[in-house]
Amino acid sequence: MKQIRFRHQPVDVIPESLEAHVLYVTRDGDVAAHLCACGCGKEVITPLAPTDWTLSFEKRGGATLDPSIGNWAFPCRSHYFIWGGAVVWARGMSEKAIAAGRSRDRARKQKYYEQRKSIDVPRRSSQPDQSSSDSVHRLSIWERLLTWLRSLVT
Ligand SMILES: [Zn+2]
Repeated sequence: MKQIRFRHQPVDVIPESLEAHVLYVTRDGDVAAHLCACGCGKEVITPLAPTDWTLSFEKRGGATLDPSIGNWAFPCRSHYFIWGGAVVWARGMSEKAIAAGRSRDRARKQKYYEQRKSIDVPRRSSQPDQSSSDSVHRLSIWERLLTWLRSLVT
């Protein structure tokens, strides 16, 4: 298969009609767009965020999108990487591997948001509340037991 390369094109907004083999990236860096590398003409919009795709540049100037592009929703179902501007095909990926990739994505997002949570939300001491409610609960059991014992005696 012919080596396909993507040319990186900074834009203010993603144009309505895209050219093949051009990777459009907004200047504010929040979204990239390109036409599916298989040539089917479908637009692939990739949000750029720590939880979605990250774009980096090689010294040679080629753009790398991480992770891979999996166009499962398109009829072509093509799956490829863009590494240093070059398309690297990831063919024959099984449904199982796709599902694994998706759950990895979920785990990645979860991890990201958990990290954010631990930064944004100051640690609160929920421990004393927990134990006090626990002791109240235990007390009520003892109280009930005592009541029951008293009922046996009288
Ligand atoms: Zn395609």
